[in-house]
Amino acid sequence: MRKFSISYWLDNVSKKDFSQDMKLLNTEIMSELLYAEKRSVLLDRIISNIKKIAERHEIEYMEIPLGSSGLFIPVLYREKSDPNSTFLLLLGAQHNEYNGTFGILEFLNSKMNKSLFEWQKSCSGGFLIIPVLNIRGFLHPIFENKWGYYVTGINNLQQTNCNRFWDKTLEQDIFQKYESSIPEESRVVGDFLLRLRQDPRTPLTVLDFHETSLPYRIRKEMTQTLNLNYLSDLNWIKEVTLESAFKYKGISYLNKKRSEDIKWIKEAVTEMSEHIQEKAIYFLFYSPYSKDLANFLDSHLQKEFASVLWYSSRYIVDHSQKIEGCFVSANMSRPWMCAIEIESHKLFFNLPEEQKKYEENLQYGKYLLNQLRLNSNIAANVIYFTLKYLSSRNNKEK
Ligand SMILES: [Zn+2]
Repeated sequence: MRKFSISYWLDNVSKKDFSQDMKLLNTEIMSELLYAEKRSVLLDRIISNIKKIAERHEIEYMEIPLGSSGLFIPVLYREKSDPNSTFLLLLGAQHNEYNGTFGILEFLNSKMNKSLFEWQKSCSGGFLIIPVLNIRGFLHPIFENKWGYYVTGINNLQQTNCNRFWDKTLEQDIFQKYESSIPEESRVVGDFLLRLRQDPRTPLTVLDFHETSLPYRIRKEMTQTLNLNYLSDLNWIKEVTLESAFKYKGISYLNKKRSEDIKWIKEAVTEMSEHIQEKAIYFLFYSPYSKDLANFLDSHLQKEFASVLWYSSRYIVDHSQKIEGCFVSANMSRPWMCAIEIESHKLFFNLPEEQKKYEENLQYGKYLLNQLRLNSNIAANVIYFTLKYLSSRNNKEK
């Protein structure tokens, strides 16, 4: 059972040098992420870091309890002082992905954090920051919960994806109707968010951070098994990869593919995937109400990360095709929202496989650390540029 008291914090955390604590992304972090028994040490480091942020900047720190488990979701928040103003939600680690977690921490620990306080002051808005939502999966990554993907712990092996219920948490009447069917993590956060936002139809901006291994898997697949049948059934990532191959070759995109195209497409995908392991990727999923923000972020991110991004025809994707329940699909019919889902390269898809590579090759730990730093840096910049966007819209409205 994990319990935190103020005296524990004062005794064990505040004596440490703050600058040491800021270096969360050090070499130890890989073994803390790769080995389940070290996860609680890492969570302690994250908690002590955000408590210091709270103290320094006069932000509220809170532990949202998870039933009788003794576990809690550590959050930072500030209430709105104007009830009609915008509320901002930053959400990391709904699944086994830590770009949002460390991106949030990088943002809060760097000078970028000024943009948050300046925006908040100028519009009297509020915010809720959740570095790790899926605490049970984070602390107990096991095969049964797909290495921390699902919101299940050691005692509850039912696989539940907490990212399928947010549409039921955004308005009081809907929330009450579905409350008992919403998984605990989404329910307690949804409930808290409704209280913080006061009027449920006031503006809500959401940055929801995820990672996916799809872009890498599809590129590999295409260089090996591409045929006409494969091209007849395209999802978003296959479509973007194909579009990229056409753009790479300077050929205008054809909806109808011919068998004579297969060979050059395979070659193009191989060529544009060179050095892909060292590079980074992001995809921003948007709704009709967040498309403008997605375009704004994309133009800044492409400039900022030009030298490290792998080749793609585009980095923003219309979310209308995806499954219900996440924030962006909930945003499809809610004009008062503005939600973006951020995808980066997934690093901890299969924990035992990653452990094996880490143990066999010293360089692999460095590689993982570098990738995590890239993902986190992209996430921190997404937050920073979103605040620039919100501030510029405030100024326009004044
Ligand atoms: Zn995810």
